[in-house]
Amino acid sequence: MKVIDRGTTEIFVAGGGVAGVAAALSAARQGKKVILAEKTVMLGGLATLGLVNLFVAMCNGRGKQIAFGMAEEFARLSVKYGYGDLTPQFVDGAIPREKLDEYAAIGKKPPRYKTNFSPEIFALQLTELLHDAGVTILFDSIVTDVTMCADDPKRARSVTLLTASGFERYGAQMFVDATGSAQLAYLAGMRVKTGRNYHIFSGMEVSLERCQNAIDAQDIEKLFVDQFGGRANLYGGNQPEGMEPYDGTSSDEVNTYFLRNHLEMLAHYKDAENRKKRDLVTTAGMPQFREVRCIEGDYAFRAEDAYRHFDDSVAAIPDFARRDYLYEVPLRCLTQKEFPNVVAAGRVAAAEGYGWDVLRVIPPAILTGQAAGTVCVHAIEEKKPVAQVDIAALQKQLAKDGVLIHFDDADIPPSSDGTIENSDKF
Ligand SMILES: Cc1cc2nc3c(=O)[nH]c(=O)nc-3n(C[C@H](O)[C@H](O)[C@H](O)COP(=O)(O)OP(=O)(O)OC[C@H]3O[C@@H](n4cnc5c(N)ncnc54)[C@H](O)[C@@H]3O)c2cc1C
Repeated sequence: MKVIDRGTTEIFVAGGGVAGVAAALSAARQGKKVILAEKTVMLGGLATLGLVNLFVAMCNGRGKQIAFGMAEEFARLSVKYGYGDLTPQFVDGAIPREKLDEYAAIGKKPPRYKTNFSPEIFALQLTELLHDAGVTILFDSIVTDVTMCADDPKRARSVTLLTASGFERYGAQMFVDATGSAQLAYLAGMRVKTGRNYHIFSGMEVSLERCQNAIDAQDIEKLFVDQFGGRANLYGGNQPEGMEPYDGTSSDEVNTYFLRNHLEMLAHYKDAENRKKRDLVTTAGMPQFREVRCIEGDYAFRAEDAYRHFDDSVAAIPDFARRDYLYEVPLRCLTQKEFPNVVAAGRVAAAEGYGWDVLRVIPPAILTGQAAGTVCVHAIEEKKPVAQVDIAALQKQLAKDGVLIHFDDADIPPSSDGTIENSDKF
């Protein structure tokens, strides 16, 4: 097999979803040479190409923001040119006291800090963001192999990509796996585990009726309506009887998933009577699998760790579906200590049970991406394995870049009822 040698860089990021973009951006802003390879031709991953265009709640549900850093930056960016409004009741990270009192007086819970966004415009903005930061973006480039160092079989040396030129090899000092499916980690020989995914596949439909709604409201977002192939929810509700969940790690499963979903989606459009009145404008360009593979990290993020502080926290995050639940993400969720130069980001970070759901959604995925990029910078500068970087220095840098490292104990509620809100969608 002929492989073109493309030289080396400092940090190589596999996958251009929100986590990979955050990793590449944070490293580039700290002066490192960064290459990011994306399998498709669009940045943003599930958040854009996968049509999952909602930044879930970034607050504690009592009017206080928890997810900051690049989660906040990307959320603001997502509504800069496209439709969507970040909950306007929030001012400088909180809903003002008087406003909270007003909600309390009428027995209403305060709104959560979140927003929908235009996936296509946001994807273009991510391209601009990385380009402006000096990151080399390789579109249409699939990581197909990882070569380890001959004298240190746990240290990655280079990756081989399938591109328009054929096979190309890039060496690097540090590697971030932000593929959403731990593809790089798996190829490098890290221990990984698989998830369960139900039958869901969405597209965006427009119709004459929706056009009228949008015109009446003067709001283009009202034009779009979700159309589904499969429409199972997060917990397997609506899963067709007898259909096994997908883990999403084999080509057979991916092919079966798309075949079933394309045919189911098409069935909605077989009433030729309506063909002038509606159109399907886009479908998800990647499988809508939530949990494919994550690393078995030095620690697994879990929901039972709510309200627990970690000395090696790299970000405080809230729970998207349960008000009041607060967590910290230990650096150890991004590392497997035998592997000195590979870091996991986004939904590849180690987690278990419902904890994987909490950690994988867009704002936390961005924050673990930001942390992964920063860890790589520190590992290079300190000449240390990623699991052994100076935690205080790492946290100082992340805090300087806007990340809340530890939640405030004053925000631990006397009791949380654990009610799950809006859980179907995420
Ligand atoms: C049905 C569904 C609904 C959801 N709803 C919500 C929601 O409403 N709000 C929310 O916040 N979250 C939601 N999520 C979760 C959220 O969208 C994702 O978990 C999050 O976007 C993950 O980001 P990521 O960057 O880690 O991974 P991904 O978005 O998966 O990005 C990985 C990127 O890596 C690329 N890649 C993969 N393999 C390779 C390779 N070998 N070489 C190069 N590139 C590669 C992919 O093309 C992709 O661009 C939902 C997820 C699903 C499936």
